[in-house]
Amino acid sequence: MTELVRDVPFQQFIVKLHSRCNLSCDYCYVYHHVDQSWRDRPKVMSPRTIEAVAARIGEHAEAYGLREIFVVLHGGEPLLAGPAVIEDVITGIRSRVPAATRVDVTLQTNGTLIDERFVEVFARHDIGVGISVDGGREANDRHRVFADGRPSFALVEQGLARLRSAGDLWTGLLCAVDVTNDPLATYEELVALRPPQIDLLLPLANWVHPPAAAAGGTPYADWLITVFDRWFWAPHRETGIRLFESIIGLLLGGISDTEAVGLNSAKAITIETDGQLEASDALKTTAPGRGATGLSVHRDSLAVATRHPRVLEMHRTFDRLPPLCQTCPVVKVCGGGHFSHRYGHDGGFAHPSVYCADLRKLIGHVNRAVVDALGLAA
Ligand code: SF4
Repeated sequence: MTELVRDVPFQQFIVKLHSRCNLSCDYCYVYHHVDQSWRDRPKVMSPRTIEAVAARIGEHAEAYGLREIFVVLHGGEPLLAGPAVIEDVITGIRSRVPAATRVDVTLQTNGTLIDERFVEVFARHDIGVGISVDGGREANDRHRVFADGRPSFALVEQGLARLRSAGDLWTGLLCAVDVTNDPLATYEELVALRPPQIDLLLPLANWVHPPAAAAGGTPYADWLITVFDRWFWAPHRETGIRLFESIIGLLLGGISDTEAVGLNSAKAITIETDGQLEASDALKTTAPGRGATGLSVHRDSLAVATRHPRVLEMHRTFDRLPPLCQTCPVVKVCGGGHFSHRYGHDGGFAHPSVYCADLRKLIGHVNRAVVDALGLAA
């Protein structure tokens, strides 16, 4: 298979192995938001689709001469697919990319199903594992529960212990910010789990579906600033916090490591269990089908997807930002925030982030802390 080489290639491939989840978190963007397309998808990615996914990623890496690609195994809950499917996907992709292409694989899981079989597969295929947890037992179990209301934290702890016993596979924690949780207690509980990194995520919200705590003020900035001060001024670095490290990096002229801030981001494509290509999972929080491209690995090359309007509109460049962002003093750091947070009633993204005031305040605070720490004149 050959592709026409032009446009910006994808570097990150989010592969949905299973479209269902064993948890029913109340804020989940897959099951409890406006896009209900999961109902029509196959539960597990089939061998035929796995083969097509591997072939498409392989031809994409070859056509664009990609030296490194990032494969993120995702769901629903990807572990529901079972260890054999995980192995098939990874061996399939690695066998299809050119020998010079490094394939970096991570898997994002709720952590409740990790057992020895999975750990053995993770170790054998060098798969980094990220676990979603929202704090300690109380904070986590307020939202992250089974459909019958049973809590999940105890199972996550067990899964984490199994993962740790296998060495260096754990990449970190992914934590959705809930401002009703105490920020310091949440940080201490997360750090007590000894994660290599924490990813603090603002809730997926936008101007049509505003954040729960949106009634005036800057509750998200205030929550994050409390955590930042505890983390930044600690006598030694206890863990990495991706959002804060990205803001600091951007303030110092570097690049962002998260799509939450900054004007750069890895170009990513999401592949659903039926092989359909979606611009981004986060768009499931905007309008039904807003992320759909109508393309499929069974018919279309990934090069075609790089030119799709739904993909192009997500490129984080200055000239794609709304006028207000273009004149904003923190635009080079904020970058308009997360793309999905800019969705408005007109069905487009030409708006500042629904978290604009929070982002400005947080970035200003981090800037002052960096200036203080470096002993610079403001
Ligand atoms: S702080 Fe607000 S106006 Fe400034 S770049 Fe971010 S979203 Fe746009």
